[in-house]
Amino acid sequence: MANNKILFVTSEAYPLIKTGGLGDVAGSLPVALKAQRNDIRIIMPAYRDAMRKAEKLGFASFHMEGVPETVRLLEGRLPGTTVKLLLVDSPVHFDRPGGPYAAPDGHDWGDNAERFATFARVVSAVALNKAGLDWQPDIVHCNDWQSGLVPALLSQHPNRPATIFTIHNLAYHGHFDSSKFQSLHLPHFLWGMQGLEFHHGLSFIKGGLVFADMINTVSPTYAEEIRTPHFGYGLDGLLNHRADRLVGILNGVDYKQWNPANDLYLKHHFDSHKLDGKAKNKDELQKQFGLSQQADTPLLGLVGRLVEQKGIDLVLDIIPQLMELDVQLVVLGTGAKTFQAKLEAAAAKYPQQIAVHIGFSEAMAHQIEAGADMFLMPSRFEPCGLNQIYSLCYGTVPIVRHTGGLADTVIDANEENIKLGQASGFHFEHASAHELLPACQRAISTYRQQPKLWKKIITTGMKQDFSWKQSAKHYLELYQTAQQLRGKHS
Ligand code: ADP
Repeated sequence: MANNKILFVTSEAYPLIKTGGLGDVAGSLPVALKAQRNDIRIIMPAYRDAMRKAEKLGFASFHMEGVPETVRLLEGRLPGTTVKLLLVDSPVHFDRPGGPYAAPDGHDWGDNAERFATFARVVSAVALNKAGLDWQPDIVHCNDWQSGLVPALLSQHPNRPATIFTIHNLAYHGHFDSSKFQSLHLPHFLWGMQGLEFHHGLSFIKGGLVFADMINTVSPTYAEEIRTPHFGYGLDGLLNHRADRLVGILNGVDYKQWNPANDLYLKHHFDSHKLDGKAKNKDELQKQFGLSQQADTPLLGLVGRLVEQKGIDLVLDIIPQLMELDVQLVVLGTGAKTFQAKLEAAAAKYPQQIAVHIGFSEAMAHQIEAGADMFLMPSRFEPCGLNQIYSLCYGTVPIVRHTGGLADTVIDANEENIKLGQASGFHFEHASAHELLPACQRAISTYRQQPKLWKKIITTGMKQDFSWKQSAKHYLELYQTAQQLRGKHS
């Protein structure tokens, strides 16, 4: 199974621009698909930062059907790869400072509906070979709400490619006032509960969930969870209706970026056979963050968006008890101002034990993964989660809530799993500080009192294979199914 023509539609891709897991996936899955002899092109908005970083950029098209004359299509390469990149250059929408979805002050751009509707129209023109590229994909692979309108706009075209919609996080819908439906001049048939309407507003994500030929999310457990009211954000009914079209495919790791044996951001390299480099990274990390340099003090790391989803409040709740256990904590993240302030206050109260860096730093993320002994990820829900997988690769034992991709990737160090030699981390069940604390205590006492078992847990995680090769195969199967079911109602 090979030689599919795939248009991979994304609103971020590492190393051009990244705010979270989608950026990592879009920067690596297309590379893995290309390695399996598929003709793949990534299409993304031409954000100012992305234009600066893209390689071999040139004009690809000035005239696209159904798209204003002011929009052009640029063509280049995803840096460091041979994967072709198409950038949708609509300067009024994308050539500005700030993030892909929000202004530098953290507020969503006020014209996000217009920005991603324009993006979707250009993607549709390319998908239908109406963008002057002389190339038509067999598959259009959309990701998250920013590309949700694409399957909807394509749905009525008889010669359209098959469409896939991947949910990286169901909590973000791209929900706008219903008046936008008119002002964006979307086709009338798309309105209504069978279309893009959701709670009297316009929902971009519904475009993907209603109209894509196949839907997937990024772990098998999350694919089950989103069909329940607790995780479904009001979309569980629709997802149950389309259950025969919904699967879960676990994300992989780009070992070119995330490998402790040759990580560009580390001074000391290591692997599962030679772990002394890890201790040196711990020493560097303690020095860098101004913590007391004690080799034996358990060092916990946390990297991520500082939002309720990630259970930051649970961590804040147990800080006094954690500090009594004589451990250290390093946090890197950005997000809700209240969490930022509370974390900074904790660091001020325990300067020898807690260090917090508010900001986005690829280098620090790698250094924390390498230098910490344990990684905290007490998420309320987690579609896949990459940080716990990076932790496994870097011998940093994850402490996770039993949900979504965390449940699918980390194996709890209970008696049975220890006996089977499969334990790779520590789980807790419910999103409560009362359950997070005992999980931390279990990890800390294993670290202190059972060094042999600790080493076994570390190496079990490090030896797991999370390469994209396997997941890419599952995506190719998904593409084939989508082509078979193209246009058939579910
Ligand atoms: P999500 O997509 O929900 O944010 P994931 O665990 O799937 O969570 O992916 C997060 C990605 O973003 C990881 O590569 C992680 O290292 C990175 N990341 C998150 N916050 C930061 C930050 N403040 N600095 C650097 N990298 C970050």
